[in-house]
Amino acid sequence: MSRFVYADNAATTKMSPVARKAMLPWLEDGYGNPSAVYRIGRDARRALDGARDQVARAIGAKTEEIFFTGSGTESNNWVLRGICERLQGKGKHIITTMIEHHAISRTLEDLEKQGFEVTVLPVDKYGMVSPHVVRAAIRPDTILITIMFANNEIGTIQPIAAIGDIARERGVLFHTDAVQAVGHVPIDVELLKIDLLSLSAHKFRGPRGVGALYVKKGVKLPAFITGGGQEKGHRAGTENVAGIVGMAMALEDAVQSMEQNLLYVTELRDKLIAGMLQLPAVSLTGHPEIRLPGIASFAIACIEGEALILMLDAAGIAASSGSACSSGSLDPSHVLLSIGLTHESAHGSVRLSLGEETTEADVDYILEQIPPIVEKLRAMSPLWEERVDA
Ligand SMILES: *Cc1c(COP(=O)(O)O)cnc(C)c1O
Repeated sequence: MSRFVYADNAATTKMSPVARKAMLPWLEDGYGNPSAVYRIGRDARRALDGARDQVARAIGAKTEEIFFTGSGTESNNWVLRGICERLQGKGKHIITTMIEHHAISRTLEDLEKQGFEVTVLPVDKYGMVSPHVVRAAIRPDTILITIMFANNEIGTIQPIAAIGDIARERGVLFHTDAVQAVGHVPIDVELLKIDLLSLSAHKFRGPRGVGALYVKKGVKLPAFITGGGQEKGHRAGTENVAGIVGMAMALEDAVQSMEQNLLYVTELRDKLIAGMLQLPAVSLTGHPEIRLPGIASFAIACIEGEALILMLDAAGIAASSGSACSSGSLDPSHVLLSIGLTHESAHGSVRLSLGEETTEADVDYILEQIPPIVEKLRAMSPLWEERVDA
């Protein structure tokens, strides 16, 4: 069999056996509607209650503060649209950063069209926002600060505790899109003074198509999907019982083995980074230390990221790029441009994201495959020729 190395865990993860096993009964005989009063309905209801408890414990929340959704994207939409709707009488100003996921940035663009005003904060060359800059951006009419926990392209982890302090002190609600961080790095919503947090199952080895939103007790968020009484009437629709159970088990499992996984994956990532930096004209993107354990991201001069991804695919390696083609627009990734990369450098970006199932042999294989591919691509590049000649 030909070799396959999955190095795109930031895009999605393979479901953990624990999650899969926990889901199966709810895909088979456990098909009762959780709102039904008879036994199989009650069983499903109990499973949901248990899952809510598990998710809450994993992030230091209370059970009643967890709402299930259909994705991280949905959780983000709910928060932004809900807070704007509820607090527009108080003010119409929102603070965010230049490096948010499209689920945040595009939703905010939509809200701007509806009359809300958004301050988009810059980040430094490592992709980090300064808490002082956050503080200075707060106005009397600021109703929400939304800043991601960790970036999905470059892995940089934001100073969430400091931002939480500032938001709480100034009485502004603080939301974090923690989709990349939950299950990978320790998170305690109480300690970090987070009011609202989005998470998504498929980024921590749960199933795709299920997420959750943490809403701090006392924070009033209007209903997002109206209909039946599910999720206290806030997110109607018959619950995805199997998905929710799978998410909760995957998360509990991830938190239990976090310390061990963090060390293991970080070590692999650092080996990969060290190996990649041996190549000429390759630089690491994102913060050198304050970054997610699994994400190694690079700018490779004088190559087209898309071409590299296709050649890696031919070698059995799944990776991704923030180049224009990959990002589905004419412009390369907004994240890479925000950290000061030129369009040209951003075109040569590659993200290799590792997980618990990645082996050292996988990293060795990546490090063996990439150099000749980069060389081949550069041999075809007039830019590289100029650079070498210079
Ligand atoms: C993947 C991701 C999302 C979207 O989550 P889905 O469940 O895929 O909708 C949002 N934010 C970040 C940072 C992500 O990495």
